[in-house]
Amino acid sequence: MLGLMQNQPLLISSLIEFAERHHGDAEIVSRRVEGDLHRYTYKEAGRRSRQVANALDALKLNFGDRVATLAWNGYRHFELYYGVSGSGRVLHTINPRLHPDQIAWIANHAEDQVLCFDLSFLPLVQAVHGKCSSIKHYIALCDADKLPADSGIPNLQSYESWIGAQSDSYVWPSFDENTASGMCYTSGTTGNPKAALYSHRSSTLHAYAAALPDVMCMSARDAILPVVPMFHVNAWGIPYSAALTGAKLVFPGPALDGKSIYELLEAEKVTYAAGVPTVWQMLLSHMKPGGLRFSTLRRTVIGGSACPPAMIKAFNDDYGVEVLHAWGMTEMSPLGTLCTLKNKHDALPAEEKMKIRLKQGRAIYGVDMKIVDEAGKELPWDGKTFGDLHVKGPWIVREYYKGEGGSPLVDGWFPTGDVATIDADGYMQVTDRSKDVIKSGGEWISSIEIENIAVAHPAVAMAACIGVPHPKWDERPIIAVVKKPGMEVTRDELIKFYEGKTAKWQIPDDVVFVDAIPLGATGKMLKTRLRELLKDYKLPQL
Ligand code: ADP
Repeated sequence: MLGLMQNQPLLISSLIEFAERHHGDAEIVSRRVEGDLHRYTYKEAGRRSRQVANALDALKLNFGDRVATLAWNGYRHFELYYGVSGSGRVLHTINPRLHPDQIAWIANHAEDQVLCFDLSFLPLVQAVHGKCSSIKHYIALCDADKLPADSGIPNLQSYESWIGAQSDSYVWPSFDENTASGMCYTSGTTGNPKAALYSHRSSTLHAYAAALPDVMCMSARDAILPVVPMFHVNAWGIPYSAALTGAKLVFPGPALDGKSIYELLEAEKVTYAAGVPTVWQMLLSHMKPGGLRFSTLRRTVIGGSACPPAMIKAFNDDYGVEVLHAWGMTEMSPLGTLCTLKNKHDALPAEEKMKIRLKQGRAIYGVDMKIVDEAGKELPWDGKTFGDLHVKGPWIVREYYKGEGGSPLVDGWFPTGDVATIDADGYMQVTDRSKDVIKSGGEWISSIEIENIAVAHPAVAMAACIGVPHPKWDERPIIAVVKKPGMEVTRDELIKFYEGKTAKWQIPDDVVFVDAIPLGATGKMLKTRLRELLKDYKLPQL
């Protein structure tokens, strides 16, 4: 017997329709490429998203055609999120930090028809447009009078004249909720990038889950600043969850330095922010010298890379801001786990609570996870045994776009490429990417743990731990360190700093001071590149 409830497909357009109708006057504030602040409401955003939909119809784009963006977090990008997907086209957000050849490769692979870009990326578009054979229309996200003359880009028009010519009356179409809504290529540190193809159903379910109290805890009372980019994994789904809850949105545009973010947090009374550890590092470094305080910020979600304990402590102890450690990936839309405590943890002493908070967290309803050994056998949840982390759920990829790389699933589970432990309460802790695991004398050393200790040293700005070959132990860890400007620490002092903080055999054999650690397009340390740079390195004792 079938249930007798209304059967409405879960569509992205329903989120903006809801926000427009029920939170029409909630604000969306954006720092623009021009430097000024733009402010309007969900009502206005909904109206202009419908103009986008009409403008795409006017270009004669088909259902399912791909519309690419190269853009910062801002209101026009937000309108594209809804206008493109809501009208049945696929929003392809491109990461501008990728190499231009990779951007051209991705645009061709996705067969993008339209490219909408912020003027900051004009030189990039000028460099790649000749190689992007499928793109027929270029839209610069600016006013008509800011459109560059003689750009050399064919069929270029300003966003404002493009949508300005269109009516704002449009009825969002209804279609199968499994229709593709958006796509995002993984950064492809090995081989060509592969695209996760999100659907209306997966994005809407993810938006629901992300807003839950034990996940991102978003509400109409919040003012949310996503520093996480809308050009990679939909800014962790915040543009969708914000509309679902009616939260005020504050977009930082291109200004991601500590000073600009701090000023925006304060001026717009932001209660909640989300970002990767490197961005928060810049913010904290800006705040510390002048003794600056937050007046309204209460919570921040930190993920994308392991959040160092020193950062969680600084936010918590020095600024009274709760850090929610999050883990996920492009293939997971991206949220998999969030770290919030349970009722039974309430009475624990502060350090015990902190030990839990350092973990990547508990699975969100909708995500199932397990750890397995090399033979695929499930391993115990004892908080000690490491294994390959596998996941499944309705917002996790089944297959990559165009079937690239064959089926990624193993017995219906997606192997994340992360190595982790899970404790009896279901808290998962990532120890490494499987390719970065250091094996010393048959035991595994977690590079994340070794890095976390180094960055707790006051003179260390950034640290990356890699394994180097050793005749007796197979591999030994060394740590590459970037010092904070004007601060000093010697090799021996840092090695000594490890004493008592980890098992003796896990202490790195050496410290290599470097000017910078190579970062990938999503701000993660590129250990493959670091290993190449240090390929002639020899351990001192050998
Ligand atoms: P890509 O750069 O491949 O697109 P993603 O942006 O999807 O990657 O990042 C996914 C990976 O980032 C995860 O598999 C994991 O290794 C790492 N990661 C994400 N969040 C965390 C975290 N909180 N702690 C440790 N690693 C993390």
